Amino acid sequence: MKATLAPSSLISLPRHKVSSLRSPSLLIQSQRPSSALMTTMKTASRGSVAVTAAATSSVEALREGIAEFYNETSGLWEEIWGDHMHHGFYDPDSSVQLSDSGHREAQIRMIEESLRFAGVTEEKKIKRVVDVGCGIGGSSRYIASKFGAECVGITLSPVQAKRANDLAAAQSLSHKVSFQVADALEQPFEDGMFDLVWSMESGEHMPDKAKFVKELVRVAAPGGRIIIVTWCHRNLSQGEEALQPWEQNLLDRICKTFYLPAWCSTSDYVNLLQSLSLQDIKCADWSENVAPFWPAVIRTALTWKGLVSLLRSGMKSIKGALTMPLMIEGYKKGIIKFGIITCQKPL
Ligand code: SAH
Repeated sequence: MKATLAPSSLISLPRHKVSSLRSPSLLIQSQRPSSALMTTMKTASRGSVAVTAAATSSVEALREGIAEFYNETSGLWEEIWGDHMHHGFYDPDSSVQLSDSGHREAQIRMIEESLRFAGVTEEKKIKRVVDVGCGIGGSSRYIASKFGAECVGITLSPVQAKRANDLAAAQSLSHKVSFQVADALEQPFEDGMFDLVWSMESGEHMPDKAKFVKELVRVAAPGGRIIIVTWCHRNLSQGEEALQPWEQNLLDRICKTFYLPAWCSTSDYVNLLQSLSLQDIKCADWSENVAPFWPAVIRTALTWKGLVSLLRSGMKSIKGALTMPLMIEGYKKGIIKFGIITCQKPL
């Protein structure tokens, strides 16, 4: 498979470390690093949070699990939901019996609201973008078209990278966007290359949040903007050291099917960004704006077409579908938060 089709100005591979994606030898039992394996770090403000590395072997197993999960499930998602593999953004309390196109619009709106929140406007010159955890490249193609920018996307899934490149070619965008298999924690790019560093719903997969954030900062150009939109757990309250066991238990069940390591809160991200002296740090809780999303996904899964496609797609998709109600429960109980965190790299 051709893994790299980068516009020439974006190719720079001295640090290249494409993750070794071996054949399906997934260790199902250890796909998620147990919390016992997580080392912890005291943040500047309080509490002990799992933002640092899990043991190497479990990180490797997680990486393989993520790749295989998206290899298997991306086709189904695209068939039903199109090329954006992220939540939609809705008006709170909107009575959503939206048509399919309404949900797609909500997914586009998520991109637009994220750019707006971060102050990224068409007047600002965005020439180069990295899409970290790019799925099948929906954000990259949208942003490239909007800003006339060059985008390069990275994913752990070879199936996604190929599909993303095929879609770019079909839309005559190959001169602007390209996709490759690479690890967000060791990106194959030189320092300071990108005006916009975009991570839409990939942060939750990262087993080492500190390394993840450092890598986003490293590849950002001076003055560049970083946007992280991600699943978080609720902020801990003063004096609280960890989530309640029942809360942790719910997250653990989600982690198993969606190949996620330990979660952190939006405050943990903000603390990390502050510790790196980044500027104009802002965050928001958009949980209410995404509330209609999972119920809608479940509704589509329960249609005849959805069920047939689900059964064809395989066990990972079926397990994923069965886990969706837990996401709804997590949001309803205030354990899961949909967060946006953004900042600027100093000039
Ligand atoms: N941002 C995309 C896809 C979100 S799905 C969209 O909005 O459509 C999560 C993506 O994160 C998948 O493409 C997965 O391969 C990627 N991902 C997870 N961990 C990663 C890692 N360590 N390095 C690179 N990509 C990763």
